[in-house]
Amino acid sequence: MPARNDDAGPLPLVGRDLAGLAEVVAALGVPEAQRRMRARQLFRWIYARGAGDFEQMTDLPAALRDGLAERCTIARPELIAEERSADGTRKWLLRFADGQEVESVFIPEEDRGALCVSTQVGCTLSCSFCRTGTMPLVRNLSAGEILAQMLVARDLLDEWPTGRPGRRFTNIVVMGMGEPLLNYDNLATALGIAMDPAGLDLSRRRITVSTSGVVPRIDQCGRELGTGLAVSLHAVRDELRDRLVPINRRWNIASLLDACRRYPVRRRITFEYVMLAGVNDSDADARELVRLLRGIPAKVNLIPFNAWPGAPFACSSNNRMRAFAAIVEEAGIAAPVRQPRGRDILAACGQLRTASRRRRAA
Ligand code: SAH
Ligand code: SF4
Repeated sequence: MPARNDDAGPLPLVGRDLAGLAEVVAALGVPEAQRRMRARQLFRWIYARGAGDFEQMTDLPAALRDGLAERCTIARPELIAEERSADGTRKWLLRFADGQEVESVFIPEEDRGALCVSTQVGCTLSCSFCRTGTMPLVRNLSAGEILAQMLVARDLLDEWPTGRPGRRFTNIVVMGMGEPLLNYDNLATALGIAMDPAGLDLSRRRITVSTSGVVPRIDQCGRELGTGLAVSLHAVRDELRDRLVPINRRWNIASLLDACRRYPVRRRITFEYVMLAGVNDSDADARELVRLLRGIPAKVNLIPFNAWPGAPFACSSNNRMRAFAAIVEEAGIAAPVRQPRGRDILAACGQLRTASRRRRAA
């Protein structure tokens, strides 16, 4: 077992892949010839059946179960708050062992449902319209903490074992708190387990990673993970995008769109475009957007800006959003104005966490 301090507490197993679990069973004295098999059993128990404790794992030898219970944990993060919207959206605030908290949001649709997962506590990128970017504390989530959000969703939706027909949690969108491609390795481990047929069994076609534009990692994501891609574009001129999405100073619009052209996955790329009144929502902006996206299989999501106290922007009017959408649609690019889901429960990025902090501080 990887060396740990005595006071480090039990070793978390969620987030370990097959090789990682094989290491653990080896450390617990399982003979070499059986390690692979035991690791595979453990993998299925954790990620396909959603076991909550080791006692359930009746096909493991009792001595191994005892060893696991003594030294390891598959406990979930603590559920701090749950909010349900009238439209069925459910939002969960989770607290990890070190007290840090993140949100995940489940968004049901008629024949499927997407879980929006977080990859960081806070975000280092400080986009000027985003609440998450204003949070003081930032750390990466571990692979286990990313995966735990999916396990909690299956728990709360009562959808174990995985692979049952008619399940509601069918898709993952990596669009919660944080910039996923700045926590690439942990994201890749977590999604690898999520996509594994012996794990959560969610196909790569049902997973979308959203990025503000970490260009080299976009290439890596396409090559190694093969998931869908969403790009937070939000502006069509560098001078404006530098201000709205500061990572643009490192990788500008042209280099970002080049990465999109190289993206190897045969699926439309979603371009997220937050509608900010008088800032990025003119007819000229819409026409320039159409020009920029030429040659890229694209879909545009127009996101009504979700205001937060002290935000230096306002959302464009409905008429403006419709006019903008019409220009893009006219060019043959789908441009739905994204229905704000769960408005009544503050489902936008970062808002439940901040609200719950305020309530507790009060
Ligand atoms: N960091 C990644 C993924 C998380 S943000 C990214 O930026 O893509 C998910 C989406 O929500 C992004 O498109 C982001 O720009 C958008 N967003 C952030 N704050 C918002 C707000 N207040 N109103 C509307 N959309 C917002
Ligand atoms: Fe970070 Fe995305 Fe928010 Fe920008 S929009 S601060 S990249 S979470």
